Amino acid sequence: MRFRDRIARFMYGRRGTDELSRFLLIVTIVLIVLSWVTGEVIGSLCWAAAILALGYCYFRILSRNIYKREKENGWYLRKKRAVAQWFRSLKDRWQQRKEYKFFRCPSCKTLLRVPRGKGKLILTCCKCGNRFERKT
Ligand SMILES: [Zn+2]
Repeated sequence: MRFRDRIARFMYGRRGTDELSRFLLIVTIVLIVLSWVTGEVIGSLCWAAAILALGYCYFRILSRNIYKREKENGWYLRKKRAVAQWFRSLKDRWQQRKEYKFFRCPSCKTLLRVPRGKGKLILTCCKCGNRFERKT
């Protein structure tokens, strides 16, 4: 039996790699590099964290509980999407900063966009209907 066939047989019914395990591998590499460049105490903490991350990564890849690993990966993808959305929003606000001013609703924290240079305005939140005054 060829090596490749043996690996394929070993991996049968197992989860294999996914987005979360790839992310864990990147985290492991970053932690190893950090353990080289930081001091002795922080370096050994980074090393220990790298070992844990790598162990968890392999546990996930070799796991036969596909349903649970799928749920973990789904959770990771949702968090990743939320972070990407936050950065996109930050970029949009930066690009529109000369024409618009942004405010958070004091009660529901929804972000409101208002044209600049209109003086004092009473803003009405589009989500909860709360009214508050701001200088544009
Ligand atoms: Zn609101």
